[in-house]
Amino acid sequence: QKPSVLVSACLLGDPVRYDGQTKGMSASLVNQLANIAKVIPICPEMAGDLPVPRSAAEIIHGDGRDVWRALAMVQTADKQDVTSAFKAGAEKALALAKANQCQFALLMARSPSCGNVQIYDGSFQSQLREGMGVTTALLTQHGITVFNPSQIEELFEQLADTE
Ligand code: SF4
Repeated sequence: QKPSVLVSACLLGDPVRYDGQTKGMSASLVNQLANIAKVIPICPEMAGDLPVPRSAAEIIHGDGRDVWRALAMVQTADKQDVTSAFKAGAEKALALAKANQCQFALLMARSPSCGNVQIYDGSFQSQLREGMGVTTALLTQHGITVFNPSQIEELFEQLADTE
């Protein structure tokens, strides 16, 4: 049985991003992944009942780990607090990952939900800082290893090792 991998829906070509766009990976990469893993798509922000399109959001005063410690919040540029929707979406992503026994996730880079190495810094000035998104923080806390598309070869290696 192939291992299951939780994957950001926008990477699979779904137009679920805040701006109604997708960030799809190439068809050949999606096929390569699907050959060795069962792909479990999720868009945590849509799972948290946010609409498409939606206002861009950034994490203020920290990263996803700080959001779970109530030290940081997720806000839109017009200062709407969307923290609870982001947390609800992350909980759904975790439940889906657990239900499918995912050890790995492949999530979109730099998103306030899905980022794993960098996120935007809360200034809405396109400034990046080190840190992870709200969903990535929760998955990581539960032992799921999160990769972004630039790390896909590492994911392929890990999947090969689990066979
Ligand atoms: Fe893609 Fe994640 Fe943003 Fe949804 S929340 S659009 S899956 S980056």
